[in-house]
Amino acid sequence: MVDNVTIHCSECGVLIRTDEKTSFIFESLDYDCSEKYLISQCPSCFSVLFGRKTLTLDEVERQFVWKTVAERLWPDPLLSEVPSEIPAKARQDIIEAKKCFSYEIYSAAAVLCGKALERLVKEKAGNHTIARGLQELKTNQIIDQRLFDWGDALRKERNIGAHASDEEVTKDDARDIIDFTIAIFDYVYRLSTKYEDYMARKNKNI
Ligand SMILES: [Zn+2]
Repeated sequence: MVDNVTIHCSECGVLIRTDEKTSFIFESLDYDCSEKYLISQCPSCFSVLFGRKTLTLDEVERQFVWKTVAERLWPDPLLSEVPSEIPAKARQDIIEAKKCFSYEIYSAAAVLCGKALERLVKEKAGNHTIARGLQELKTNQIIDQRLFDWGDALRKERNIGAHASDEEVTKDDARDIIDFTIAIFDYVYRLSTKYEDYMARKNKNI
């Protein structure tokens, strides 16, 4: 039997519904953690899409079934661009934001990025609003001028830190906010860690 799949086409930028061309099931020892990897093709632009489905409990049938919606792993994977050096809770917010983006829930994506940014501000600059926090981060040289300008422009023009009831968040808004959120986390956590590691090694060799 050929299963259906709903997956986000990166080329068309929308969710598409199509057939699974082929699939492989990874059976976990914890049955409900099993995963199904699948290949499908967008019926509109013919792009090949590689995705993963997880199991969900069907309350009526009282058994586990594969979710219809698959997470896209290729091209442009949703999760691998979120560096592992980012603190777990913020990383989870960003991953969820990317998932919301792929399911076309742009306002939720913006809210989740705002949440992640608030965590960053709180940890690195204290209890401030995002606006004040970005200023503090720049003053303390935790971020550079470009990141500050980028964040400040987005904050003023778009919806960083927006609440769900605020004005509509467009697809472009959401993409910009996600890009910025990943960039600032990457800079603050990954780049600085790599730099500190390098300096520590260098000093040891002197
Ligand atoms: Zn397509």
